[in-house]
Amino acid sequence: MKVFVLNCGSSSVKYQLFDMDNESVMAKGLVERIGSDDAILTHRPEGRQPVKQIGPILDHTTAISKVLTVLTHQEHGVIRDVSEIGAVGHRVVHGGEAFTGSVLITDEVKKALRDCIDLAPLHNPPNLTGIAAAEELMPGVPQVAVFDTAFHSTMPRRAFLYPVPYVLYQRHKVRRYGFHGTSHRYVAGRASEILGRPLEDLKIISCHLGNGASIAAIKGGKSIDTSMGFTPLEGLMMGTRSGDVDPGVILFVMDREQLTLVEANAMLNKHSGLVGLSGLSSDMREIEAGMAQGNPRAEDAFDVYEYRIRKYIGAYAAAMNGVDVIIFTAGIGENSPLLRQRVCEGISFLGVRIDPAKNDVRGKEADISAERSAVRVLVVPTNEELVIARDTMEIVSSRGAREHAATEARA
Ligand code: ADP
Repeated sequence: MKVFVLNCGSSSVKYQLFDMDNESVMAKGLVERIGSDDAILTHRPEGRQPVKQIGPILDHTTAISKVLTVLTHQEHGVIRDVSEIGAVGHRVVHGGEAFTGSVLITDEVKKALRDCIDLAPLHNPPNLTGIAAAEELMPGVPQVAVFDTAFHSTMPRRAFLYPVPYVLYQRHKVRRYGFHGTSHRYVAGRASEILGRPLEDLKIISCHLGNGASIAAIKGGKSIDTSMGFTPLEGLMMGTRSGDVDPGVILFVMDREQLTLVEANAMLNKHSGLVGLSGLSSDMREIEAGMAQGNPRAEDAFDVYEYRIRKYIGAYAAAMNGVDVIIFTAGIGENSPLLRQRVCEGISFLGVRIDPAKNDVRGKEADISAERSAVRVLVVPTNEELVIARDTMEIVSSRGAREHAATEARA
């Protein structure tokens, strides 16, 4: 079966087409600047030159329609006809408390997703627009929603409740949800395969360090805590997001600087984190370059970033009463030996030892622990799209099997 994976943002659509017979990527790409006259479609057919098209793309339906055109293009395409696509898998950011796993998209599911809009006002509307566009362009093709939050639905109440008036949870569902669940689930599964040990036996701490960053405590294959909370702003310091700060700081600054809600939101989400502290960049490569030139604010930014990861690792080792595996993933986790080295140096009390030669790796799966390390330390490139494609395939196939069984029973 060919599965088309879509990740629709407010002005972008990322896609991958999988051949699930061998889990290979046939093509992937990105439409950026949707809503403008100079939107950019970059299409990468596997093993061939990428193609770039620039022109007006005013909405998501047009964007996905252009993607389907290029996927079936005589020269750049990888399939003859759209009808070869057996199913569509959508990344959906927020499933609220309603969704604890991936689901086939039905009218009821769409209604429940609309009910979650309040919880993710920036993310869920474009996800819903993408679903509507795909339904319009590929009528009858089953569609599946895979949620960023679902993997963390196993968190116990002590991990997801905030110590604020309980009525806020009852009235507005104010609680911790967690994000990046698809990534944490994938890398934990890979860790179990790499180490040849069942997930059920492992206590894993996975560090997803991209532009957004979160860390998860995964015990016996289940997320029992994670650093992002009600929104993806809580937890680790990130490229442009603050992560944990004293809530009192926000109230104080809003008062002193006379900030509106919108301005305070921008301060914490766009102007904080690596870029806020360094004044240089949200890109870890530029922070590391700044450190190499002796820039003290770049050093501060790196130190705070690293220290906070280390504190969370300590906390999650306590949450699980131990740790067997630490995983580094996403842009920074996969590509920064320096960050991994600094984090691991500071947690040697847990029995963590890495091998400097093995740690000299970028963007590849590797066990970077030293022989004598009590904790395995792994680099695992994440693959959220593959998880979405697998879930989609599984749900659609089991639905097919159920329908077949029902038809047989009727016959
Ligand atoms: P997103 O969360 O948008 O998917 P990524 O997972 O691609 O982001 O991660 C982006 C981050 O990865 C950026 O901060 C970038 O600096 C960092 N990164 C990429 N390559 C390197 C590298 N070689 N060294 C350090 N950081 C890197």
